[in-house]
Amino acid sequence: MSIAANIESLQVDLNPIGVTLVAVSKTKSNEEIMEAYQAGQRLFGENMVQEMVEKYEALPKDIAWHLVGHLQTNKVKYIAPFVSMIQSVDSLKVLKEIDKHAAKHNRTIDCLLQVYIADEGTKFGFDHAELIEMLRSDDFQGLPHIRVRGLMGIATNTDNEKVVKEEFYELKMLFDGIKASFFRKEDTFDTLSMGMSSDYSLAIEKGANMVRLGSTIFGKRVIKHYKNKE
Ligand SMILES: *Cc1c(COP(=O)(O)O)cnc(C)c1O
Repeated sequence: MSIAANIESLQVDLNPIGVTLVAVSKTKSNEEIMEAYQAGQRLFGENMVQEMVEKYEALPKDIAWHLVGHLQTNKVKYIAPFVSMIQSVDSLKVLKEIDKHAAKHNRTIDCLLQVYIADEGTKFGFDHAELIEMLRSDDFQGLPHIRVRGLMGIATNTDNEKVVKEEFYELKMLFDGIKASFFRKEDTFDTLSMGMSSDYSLAIEKGANMVRLGSTIFGKRVIKHYKNKE
C-alpha cells in the first residue's frame, strides 16, 4: 500500500477509539513525509535533533513535531523554538534545560516522561523509583515552562507477546498511579504513548492512547550503516 493509503486506513482504525497517531518519519525523505501530509497527517515523530530541525525548516509549518529519541541537554536549544512535544524526557537535568529554553521563547513545552519498561540493558528512561523521587522533589515543582502530559515507554523487542503485554500493562498501572498521586487536578496529564509498528495493537489493548508508527506507514527503514562482512 502507498504511504497515503496507510495513513488513511490507520486513521480510520485509530480515530474512533481516541488513539493519536504519531507518524515516525526518521530517515524518511521530505517527499515521503509530504505524501503522509497530503493524506491529512500533521503529527510526525523524529529521533534525532538535527534531522528534525532540517525537516521543520523545509516542511509546512502546521506540522507538529514530536521528539521520540534521546535528547542531550546541549541540543535542547535547537528544538525549543518549535517542538510540539518531547516524548523522551529521561532526567531532571534535561527537564530543567527544556524549561530554561522554553522560557526564552515564551513557550510552555509539552513533555512525556520516558519510563524504562523493557527487559534490555541499553534503553533510556526512568525506573519507577527514580521517577517518583523526581516527581516529589522541589526542583521538579519549580519548572513553569514545561507541562508534563504523561508517560512514554518502549517494550522489549521480542516475539513473545506475553512479555510485551506485561510491560505495557505495567506502564499503564504506573500511569494511573502517577496521575492519581501527582496530577489529580491536571486534566492535561492525559497521554500514554506506547506501541510501535510491531506491537501497537497490544499497546492499545493495554491502554495506550498514542502510538508511534514508522515502518507500518513508510515501509522498512534502510539500514544506512552496517559492518563490512569481509
Ligand atoms: C523508530 C521509533 C518508532 C517507530 O518504529 P517502527 O518500528 O518503525 O514503528 C517508535 N518509537 C521510537 C522511540 C522510535 O525510535
